[in-house]
Amino acid sequence: MKTDVKLLKIIELLKKEYPEPKTALNFKNPFELFVATVLSAQTTDVLVNKVTENLFQKYNTIVDYVRVPLEELEKDISSINFYKTKAKNIRRSAEIIIEKHNSRVPMTMDELTKLPGVARKTANIILYNSFGINEGIAVDTHVKRLSNRLGLTKNSDPQKIELDLMAITPKEEWGIISHLLILHGRKVCQAKKPKHEQCIIRDICPSNDI
Ligand code: SF4
Repeated sequence: MKTDVKLLKIIELLKKEYPEPKTALNFKNPFELFVATVLSAQTTDVLVNKVTENLFQKYNTIVDYVRVPLEELEKDISSINFYKTKAKNIRRSAEIIIEKHNSRVPMTMDELTKLPGVARKTANIILYNSFGINEGIAVDTHVKRLSNRLGLTKNSDPQKIELDLMAITPKEEWGIISHLLILHGRKVCQAKKPKHEQCIIRDICPSNDI
């Protein structure tokens, strides 16, 4: 089966399994998603949601992130790894968004990736989940692992994987494919012990006996 045909089948099957694919991060507006996504680097969405539950009650608007002393913001997110760097990036990004973007989270890859701590993965998540824009494909550890196991790429570099996936995925599915692979990676195709016998796409997976 050709890779692009196989991918369409994978999307079709995974959509049946996960009918509402979306980010697991909780947020009410684009800047809250921005904060949650920055916090989520190299930690779990569960922990981020626990921290943002209180954070988003205390910080109602983007201005609140620049009004408090940096030390206070650090303390408020201190249960998350790299909290000092993340606090600095969130605060500086808030300042830039207020000054240069009229307090609105920018809607382009170019503008988003100019903000501190924002690479393509974060920008893709924000663009799709806040604005419904399919600009690229967010490649996290699950997307990377499943793309390799499913034979959709031979690369290990996330940017190269993203390009490989974009070449074979219809543009309107770019945001969804990332969520589908993440959901399947968490539930079934786990890193250490993939549950092949429970897997809805095992018949078209070349790694179904690893
Ligand atoms: S068959 Fe196994 S390796 Fe392939 S996607 Fe399913 S769980 Fe992952």
